[in-house]
Amino acid sequence: MKLKAFHKISYGLYLVASEYQGKKAGYIANTTFQVTSDPEQLAISCHKKNQTTQVILDSGIFSVSVLKKEVNMKIIGDFGFMSSTDIDKFSGINTFTAKTGAPIVIDSSVAWFDCRVVRSVDLGSHYLIIGEVLDADEISDEEPLTYQHYREKYKMYSPKNSPTYIEKSILDAELSDTSGEKKEEEPEHEHFFDGESYVCVICGFTYNPEEGDPAMGIPPGTRFEDLPEDYKCPICNAGKEYFKKI
Ligand code: FE
Repeated sequence: MKLKAFHKISYGLYLVASEYQGKKAGYIANTTFQVTSDPEQLAISCHKKNQTTQVILDSGIFSVSVLKKEVNMKIIGDFGFMSSTDIDKFSGINTFTAKTGAPIVIDSSVAWFDCRVVRSVDLGSHYLIIGEVLDADEISDEEPLTYQHYREKYKMYSPKNSPTYIEKSILDAELSDTSGEKKEEEPEHEHFFDGESYVCVICGFTYNPEEGDPAMGIPPGTRFEDLPEDYKCPICNAGKEYFKKI
């Protein structure tokens, strides 16, 4: 079985949030989809180890915010790769409540849905949770973020708890299988910069010295070794010590 076939399935990226007894929880999901139109129902697939999953099951409510293409990467890093036990994900984040009482994140979002849980199905590692949409709104006409754009722009893979997670070493092996012949044709002189790339072992973000990290004030051509000691992964906020040479 070729696992990279799974990357041909299109998705968006969403922020799923809930609240139970005053405690907010949220995570980034790509598996959110409409399952019926009458009534309007959405399904989400939630890992049992995600804190948000239990909060959704306890409260019976959740919201889905559709992230925009130019998403604030801090939202992806905090909600996608950090645990609520380590940071307050909602600090500095704008939310409001609609009908169900679930917190709805409006930062970096183009639309939102407010849902009440009607059923959950135990899938082993995950629960498939189905919610009836009680309220929804479009809040921006900006383009929504697609999972493909996210993967290509940030060279990121799903974190381990994602339903679409694929072991990175398996994917890399499949990729090198097919790029073998192509590599030989690449002219030697194109490798004008010999700094090495480093990967964040927490989230999979790759620091490429040729590109630098302009959003974090690091100009192109900066070797990883020359990054300031307090450099943090732009995705998951991990320090330099979490990066490994590739
Ligand atoms: Fe990271």
